[in-house]
Amino acid sequence: MQTIASYVAGRWHEGQQDHQALFDPTTEAEIGRCSSAGIDFGAVVAYARDKGGPALRALTFAQRAEALKAVSAAIHAIRDELIALSAKNGGSTRGDAKFDIDGATGTLAAYAALGKELGDARHLSDGDGVQLGRSARFYGQHVLTSRPGIAVHINAFNFPAWGMGEKLACAILAGVPVIEKAGTPSAMVAWRTAKAIADSGALPEGAFQFIVGNAGDLLDRLGPMDCVAFTGSSRTGRQIRGHANLLDHNVRVNVEADSLNAAVLAPDVEPGSDLFHLFVGNVVVDMTQKAGQKCTAVRRIFVPKERVAEVVEALTERLRAVKLGDPAVEDTRMGPLASARQWQDVRAGIEKLQRVAELACGGTQRPFERGWFVQPTLAVAPGLDVGVVHEAEVFGPVATVLGYDPGDVDTLAATINRGGGGLVASMYGNERSFTDALAFAIAPWHGRVWIASDRVADQTLQPGMVLPQLIHGGPGRAGGGEELGGLRGLHLYMQRTAVQGFQGAIAKTFGRGEAAPEGSKIST
Ligand code: NAP
Repeated sequence: MQTIASYVAGRWHEGQQDHQALFDPTTEAEIGRCSSAGIDFGAVVAYARDKGGPALRALTFAQRAEALKAVSAAIHAIRDELIALSAKNGGSTRGDAKFDIDGATGTLAAYAALGKELGDARHLSDGDGVQLGRSARFYGQHVLTSRPGIAVHINAFNFPAWGMGEKLACAILAGVPVIEKAGTPSAMVAWRTAKAIADSGALPEGAFQFIVGNAGDLLDRLGPMDCVAFTGSSRTGRQIRGHANLLDHNVRVNVEADSLNAAVLAPDVEPGSDLFHLFVGNVVVDMTQKAGQKCTAVRRIFVPKERVAEVVEALTERLRAVKLGDPAVEDTRMGPLASARQWQDVRAGIEKLQRVAELACGGTQRPFERGWFVQPTLAVAPGLDVGVVHEAEVFGPVATVLGYDPGDVDTLAATINRGGGGLVASMYGNERSFTDALAFAIAPWHGRVWIASDRVADQTLQPGMVLPQLIHGGPGRAGGGEELGGLRGLHLYMQRTAVQGFQGAIAKTFGRGEAAPEGSKIST
């Protein structure tokens, strides 16, 4: 059995007690363990603050970008090893694992490209300067500079590589050192990824540290220049947001939490059309990719009342055909859930749904004697007003179909918004009066609104795909946070300051100037 270690203060640290077991969710066998016991979190914070921060801040954007490029290459170099490990400690099929790993390397590479464009600068100018005095001589300019603090990244188990990579990309480019705390159920994948990063030597000493096991008193050590970027459940997000030391010092906290994502089939989409097939295909991918353990996965499927039967038939046919099994086997399409806790939670969630909706396929029965498998499960709600469907996130291959009245877009929008704030809502339709009205009504409640029509159907990427160019996050229940979105992703780690004074000096030093090309301008 393998004991995986944390990477702190430039060394690998194996906890000697209080181990947490790590499992293969296909066989339920214990395959490893981890512990953060014995880590001096004060020293970890000091190492990042005293060594990593100054070293990173001394680099230009272009130099940090070079480091990110090298980190991306180092992870890519062990891609096959990570794919195999993702099956063993995570239940990911090859496709699921690639989604995670290539997502990490792609996002790191995208931020490396952004950083290269920024060149020799170390600050970002934010918008144009403004005249403040009688003449243009007295002038103001918003500027973003690296905060001399540290970033604690707490990630969920479902994207061990991407979660680490996307947060790391933004923090490092912004010049802030990272302490990464991985989700425990898939910690072996996170650990191997972290080892590739550390071994690459691409980042300055102290710029990256990695914790497996619990976070000890790490959050008690943070101060006003630090930040926490958290991804996980709303429950843990609430705890972190309410942490006394973080509140006392106004430590910035970004929360990415659960979401009851919606997919909407517009009334004008005919069954059998290309758009209908795209809708069915995307919903099935969303429900079954990573066995539905994806924060952006569709949980609620809204279709015109008179189309419910046809949609349910098309979806169940595809969902029943999904081959479950050992994720390491090539033709397996869906593996098990990542942990026993997930399995229990998802089965309890299906039971809850069963009390208010009918199951068209799937359910709580075990498909195999061993392994934390759940069959793709589609519920059909008797109407729109079914509280549980809009309240409970079942973090597995589970979604509910709800029929809406095509003549009542207001009620449809209000029902979608009952999710309390989401990461993404997708809609499929050509009739702009419908998609425009719905998009406006739900936009304030969502981080992303994704619209497919015949005009873009051949080019769309799936709605569940998070891209470095666009923001990821959502209001309310989704955590109220925001990550990525190109240079917007650096905002968490940088301080916006309004600098006022003589235009000749301010525009030269803090404006876009010669050293900061077009890409460094941020519109707010
Ligand atoms: P979780 O139980 O909330 O854990 C998330 C992370 O927080 C893990 O690293 C966990 O460590 C850590 N943690 C737990 N309690 C903590 C505490 N008191 N102090 C510091 N860290 C603590 O969530 P999960 O089960 O890993 O992930 C599933 C959830 O994440 C789902 O609800 C899903 O919707 C959400 N999610 C959201 C996004 C998004 O971008 N919005 C992305 C992915 C997942 P341990 O693992 O060691 O407990």
